[in-house]
Amino acid sequence: MAKIRCAIIGAGVIGLAAAEALTRKLEGDIVIFERREKFGQETSSRNSEVIHAGLYYPKNSLKSRLSLLGNKMLYELCRTAGIKHKKCGKIIVSTNEQEAAKIKAIYENAVAVGVPELSLLSRQEVIDLEPNVSALSGVYSGSSGIIDSHGLMEYLYLQARENGVMFAFGQEVTGIDREEQGGGGRSRDGFLIKTKEGETISAEYVINCAGLSADRLAEIAGLDIDKLGYRLHYCKGDYFSVAGSQDMINRLVYPVPHEKGYGLGVHATLDLNGFVRLGPDATYVKEISYDVDPGKRPAFYRAAKTYLPWLKEEMLSPDTAGIRPKLQGPDDGFRDFIIQEESANGLPGFVNLIGIESPGLTASLAIGQWLADLIG
Ligand SMILES: Cc1cc2nc3c(=O)[nH]c(=O)nc-3n(C[C@H](O)[C@H](O)[C@H](O)COP(=O)(O)OP(=O)(O)OC[C@H]3O[C@@H](n4cnc5c(N)ncnc54)[C@H](O)[C@@H]3O)c2cc1C
Repeated sequence: MAKIRCAIIGAGVIGLAAAEALTRKLEGDIVIFERREKFGQETSSRNSEVIHAGLYYPKNSLKSRLSLLGNKMLYELCRTAGIKHKKCGKIIVSTNEQEAAKIKAIYENAVAVGVPELSLLSRQEVIDLEPNVSALSGVYSGSSGIIDSHGLMEYLYLQARENGVMFAFGQEVTGIDREEQGGGGRSRDGFLIKTKEGETISAEYVINCAGLSADRLAEIAGLDIDKLGYRLHYCKGDYFSVAGSQDMINRLVYPVPHEKGYGLGVHATLDLNGFVRLGPDATYVKEISYDVDPGKRPAFYRAAKTYLPWLKEEMLSPDTAGIRPKLQGPDDGFRDFIIQEESANGLPGFVNLIGIESPGLTASLAIGQWLADLIG
């Protein structure tokens, strides 16, 4: 049986960033187990591809710290590695007095956590920046942008492979057992990783980057996920594309977010060709299905029409969907990312990453560095 230094479960953007960063810190073999035939087939390729500025998260939370750092790291990597991106900026807009009060609170939080390139905008200043947007007021964020997430993952994959990381595609991890190393002066027990396809490997460290299945993997490893607060809720986000929208806006335009923070509200994101996509909305679901219900079109239209007055319902067509792996249930308040080495719970060397929803893409490189510092 093969013995390796580190097993990573999941080749989404987080597993890839972890692998790439670990090769610079950790000696020995690293293997990524991925149940799909290719990297990035789940949440990492079903999102808004926004490089977030970190505007909304509480000070000192992991979401805040890792998105602030990850934002800088992503732009730097995009520049040096030639990954397609655009630092286009973003405006959060209010469309009534109640929202206008919230705009100020968002701005003040963002200033307090140290987000750069911010300003409050009057109605006229919004129009000066975006003549096709209607608003009472806004917050401008200059460090928000968009990225080709596939280009990013391709880069991380090739870099990790070049640095010796091995990829076990089509291998679904179904067993994680503690492995007693016995005496002989070895300081650390390890883990036996078993896959549905019949592979078994012994690893000193395990990093659980299994996205929507991360809670399940923690349970398989023997942790009580309800006691630890690791159980995930699935929260689906649908998108609608907007025909004839090229160059109608130049920046990302967001409404004031949902009161409970499930999602950021039906916003207008841009792709790298300047087309507008609306979404994602936020609906808690039990099952994973990426079908987009065409019947949601009127609701998307109504939501976006409040700030995009030129929109016509017939311009909207169902596009993709993604599912957020949320720790926050429908009745809960803010929950942070869990990035936890599990010595305290009897599993030294086992690291869980759970609830890596937005801004996980933005934070990916910072999370990779965090893990490399933790383990390396
Ligand atoms: C609708 C939506 C919009 C979003 N928009 C943004 C955005 O604009 N900006 C931003 O920063 N973030 C955004 N996010 C969040 C971002 O997409 C995620 O945080 C990020 O992609 C998470 O990456 P991951 O690697 O943890 O998960 P995933 O990409 O889901 O990867 C996990 C991998 O683990 C594999 N796996 C699972 N179980 C097993 C197993 N047992 N054995 C082997 N492999 C396994 C899966 O096949 C999968 O490939 C958004 C998310 C959603 C849902």
